[in-house]
Amino acid sequence: MSENGDRNVPGKGLLDGLAVTLKTLTRRSGTQQYPDVQPDLPPRSRGVIALSEENCTVCMLCARECPDWCIYIDSHKEEVVVPGAARARQRNVLDRFDIDFSLCMYCGICIEVCPFDALHWTPEFEYAETDVLSLLHDKTRLGEWMRTVPPPPAHDVLGEPSKEEATAARKAAGPGAATAAKTARPATVRPPRAETTEDGK
Ligand code: SF4
Ligand code: SF4
Repeated sequence: MSENGDRNVPGKGLLDGLAVTLKTLTRRSGTQQYPDVQPDLPPRSRGVIALSEENCTVCMLCARECPDWCIYIDSHKEEVVVPGAARARQRNVLDRFDIDFSLCMYCGICIEVCPFDALHWTPEFEYAETDVLSLLHDKTRLGEWMRTVPPPPAHDVLGEPSKEEATAARKAAGPGAATAAKTARPATVRPPRAETTEDGK
């Protein structure tokens, strides 16, 4: 029978509906009892963005790459006198760093492009507001989220040592050990080999 013919059978729709009801009746409910029960979110959930102000060099990459144009940055230049240098140096000082979470689409591009690890995801998500203007978080508020950023994953013990570790190892070993220290890896405990018989089994 064709699909249209099926629809014309009296009571067919009701029976189909009851079949779906019976099928879902035995399944476990997926209802989350939030806010009485906090959801068990993965630690790397995209809740809110945190700013580590001391890492920000005001390079503007995040603001330029943000597809929603919802990052607002202002800064000024300051002279820094370096003892022994011929001229004073200049550095950028951050005056304003705001993210408008009423526009943000949580794509994470700003975090990906930041070359100085100044932006981080945190799983905190309870910052709903009754006034949409309050979703503009300034640098103080973005900085406060830093305490909720999960710690980075542990280093891979079999991975290459970082540049800093290699340099420290080279200095500790003294002159002559530079080449060896460059290729040094952290000590690892390897599992004992399985004993083999003469025929290799
Ligand atoms: S997550 Fe995406 S939309 Fe939100 S501020 Fe960053 S770049 Fe812009
Ligand atoms: S990309 Fe990073 S360092 Fe550059 S302005 Fe944005 S937060 Fe600051």
